[in-house]
Amino acid sequence: MNVHDSERISGLLETDGMQETDSVEEADVIVLNTCCIRENADNKLYGQLGNLKRLKEERPDVQIAVAGCLAQKDRDLIRERAPHVDVVLGTHNVSRTSELLQEAKVNGPITEILEESEAFPSALPVKRDAKHCAWVTIQIGCDNSCAFCIVPAVRGREISRPFGELLEEVESLAKDGLSEITLLGQNVNSYGRDLTRALRAQKDLPGGASLIVGEKWVASKQTARPLFTDLLRAVSAVKGIRRVRYTSPHPKDLRPETIKAMADVDEICEHLHLPLQSGSNRILSSMHRGYTASRYLEKVEAARLAIPELAVSTDIIIGFPGETDGDFEATLEVAA
Ligand code: SF4
Repeated sequence: MNVHDSERISGLLETDGMQETDSVEEADVIVLNTCCIRENADNKLYGQLGNLKRLKEERPDVQIAVAGCLAQKDRDLIRERAPHVDVVLGTHNVSRTSELLQEAKVNGPITEILEESEAFPSALPVKRDAKHCAWVTIQIGCDNSCAFCIVPAVRGREISRPFGELLEEVESLAKDGLSEITLLGQNVNSYGRDLTRALRAQKDLPGGASLIVGEKWVASKQTARPLFTDLLRAVSAVKGIRRVRYTSPHPKDLRPETIKAMADVDEICEHLHLPLQSGSNRILSSMHRGYTASRYLEKVEAARLAIPELAVSTDIIIGFPGETDGDFEATLEVAA
């Protein structure tokens, strides 16, 4: 998600007439787009800001901006610890990067942290490193509350991007010659739950309100159900798209119809990245993950049965507070 946000920040700055450089010494604007999923990222950011202080002293016109999750979390603390930073912006106002840099030039340092998103990053200009593949953000935020994770605090509640808008973006990527897309979301396979809720609410409105999920979908299907699998199938059917991936799904939301779509549709890659986090039910429960080790294994087995060539990858946290040797052994057993 952060890599994709960085592509958007680069795209915005290029639209504004800037050019990318490999050399920090030559840069007029330096944007540090941060992630705070691990504590080490905090230490790294303040270390890097310390290094940039000398550059700012030598060339006071250089602008330094800090964006991303750590900025959303630390806010004013960043400028307290590094007063030479010109702009601090959070996860919800990436679209304002250029304007904030301009404003800071005139009015001095700015911290702007919003609590709600102004635009989906994918709706902004982009500068892609790869020519054949693209990230497509389908959802931002997360409604879960895993005990180890800061995402809900810094990215907010789940918001799915309208179905029709996503299809249009993928169609336009295909027209530009891109053949591989990765659907991105913090909890990617719960895509559409908020849209479905909104549609159901609108159905009860007298006179019929305009639908917010993308008229293309609603008109063709007459249904209030644009869920993840529907999207997966729809983007795979776009002419020119040859590979579709998605990350990261939550095991508790992995539904049989998603597995079926992966088995049926050639364009969907035979790769399932399914974060386990722990093989101990006790630790899974203290993590608030919402599944047990056996439930996780059942889902992987069902996926493997349906898709014989399936590659499975995962994330595991070792040393979660309270983890015993027995819990660790349980994780090893699941991994084996
Ligand atoms: S589902 Fe993922 S993003 Fe959401 S709280 Fe859990 S780990 Fe964080």
